[in-house]
Amino acid sequence: MSDDEAERKMQFLFALRSRGVTDKRVLEAMEKVDRGRFLTGLFAERAYEDMPLPIACGQTISQPSVVGLMTQALNVQPRDKVLEIGTGSGYQTAILSVLARRVYTVERHRRLTRAAEAVFRALDLTNVTAVVADGSRGYPEQAPFDRIIVTAAAEDPPGPLLAELRIGGIMVLPVGQSDAVQRLIKVTRREDGYDYEELRAVRFVPLVEGLGQD
Ligand code: SAH
Repeated sequence: MSDDEAERKMQFLFALRSRGVTDKRVLEAMEKVDRGRFLTGLFAERAYEDMPLPIACGQTISQPSVVGLMTQALNVQPRDKVLEIGTGSGYQTAILSVLARRVYTVERHRRLTRAAEAVFRALDLTNVTAVVADGSRGYPEQAPFDRIIVTAAAEDPPGPLLAELRIGGIMVLPVGQSDAVQRLIKVTRREDGYDYEELRAVRFVPLVEGLGQD
């Protein structure tokens, strides 16, 4: 790594901490996973800025501090089986793969899944399974999950995802209308129901039903 890169990375970690990402394991995972691998062309040079950036299919790679805060709220444990809805670039997936035993990630655009899979292979992330499907229906084949993270906004938490959460499990997701400010919420499944905690305002692309064109 050049001095310049090392400096940028240090500033990146500093920015994450100053925005509330304080969990040591999350910071270590984010230090390890190079965001530039999940971006193409000129955008790769801006990988260490704390900003969402465009990826293929009109989607976005999430803002690093939001990835950090969501991962922190998810409180992933080393034995956990995790479901992610909205693979996108695969950046959030890669961070989860460092922290969890197994990650299933679902994306409605085949093109994004294929590109993300190529990066997972290059980085030797062997505990990730990427699936092309409509994630608003969850992923019943592998349910229940210890943790579920959704990186696209629905108006309400999708019923199938609530049902696929293990008792004691945690789900983190943005809810609200796509053209308004959304709220990031943390859902914990109890023996007798669900607890909801509101974390902060966020802005995500919408959760869209059905498969994408490409
Ligand atoms: N975590 C990703 C975020 C990508 S944006 C990253 O940091 O790169 C959210 C993604 O959710 C988009 O790629 C979009 O295509 C996908 N998405 C939207 N609705 C979906 C659905 N119903 N099922 C699966 N993926 C969906």
